[in-house]
Amino acid sequence: MNLCDYHTHTPLCMHAQGEPEAYVQAALELGLQEYGIADHAPVKPEPFDDWRMLHEQLPAYHEWIERARVAAGDQLPIRAGLECDWLPNCESWIESLRNEYPWDYLIGSVHYLADKWDFDNPVWLGRWAETDVEEVWAQYWKTYEQMVRSGLFDIYAHADLIKKFGYRPGGDLQRYYAPVVQALVDQKGTIEINTAGWHKPCVEQYPAQGFLALCAEAGVSLVISSDAHAPAEVGRDFEKAVALAKAAGFTHTVSIVGGEKSEIAL
Ligand code: ZN
Ligand code: FE
Ligand code: FE
Ligand code: ZN
Repeated sequence: MNLCDYHTHTPLCMHAQGEPEAYVQAALELGLQEYGIADHAPVKPEPFDDWRMLHEQLPAYHEWIERARVAAGDQLPIRAGLECDWLPNCESWIESLRNEYPWDYLIGSVHYLADKWDFDNPVWLGRWAETDVEEVWAQYWKTYEQMVRSGLFDIYAHADLIKKFGYRPGGDLQRYYAPVVQALVDQKGTIEINTAGWHKPCVEQYPAQGFLALCAEAGVSLVISSDAHAPAEVGRDFEKAVALAKAAGFTHTVSIVGGEKSEIAL
């Protein structure tokens, strides 16, 4: 399979399971071209929340990546990244994280809105039921656009994560998508099709087909990611994602090695 899976997790984030050998075995069985690890990055002040590694665990994270490399041998290149949270005034922290290790890529994610609401956490289902969906969507997409405009990341994750629990405004959603697509063009950002969305209440990949079509038309580059939190989720639904990518107008995905992107034909 001429595909890479760059967005996968490790137990250091406290909500993923499995040994590096098992993740690598799953990637080998699927015949992935490359396997990338990008666990939830530390955020200060600590503990910031209960779903990420601590800064002092970075050496343990690097060891986990090394174990994956040993398990993969010369059969499968292992890439190293982080899934970083876009938070107010995070820029200098992201830059210092980038300098701590020779990462192949950093993934940028919006999991938090301004009042430190991690809106995709199931503990907040009650809050969602009484939320003004239009208002929160506007806030989310503004935040996402600011993240892309920062230019700090190589890949931008699960672009419409805000729909996770199925709360979507009515009408044409392009009004939310268009400014973000323009920012991706301006910053040469890469987006992902994140297949985990099919297994969430929204029952749809992230991002929606309308967003993907805008990206393809604008020439934004693409990766396909599982967001695996267990070995059985590695490369999950990638065939479905490839069909979707082609239908949206994509002809390539990219590989990213040491921040350098190169095209792989779909
Ligand atoms: Zn996670
Ligand atoms: Fe995420
Ligand atoms: Fe993730
Ligand atoms: Zn993610």
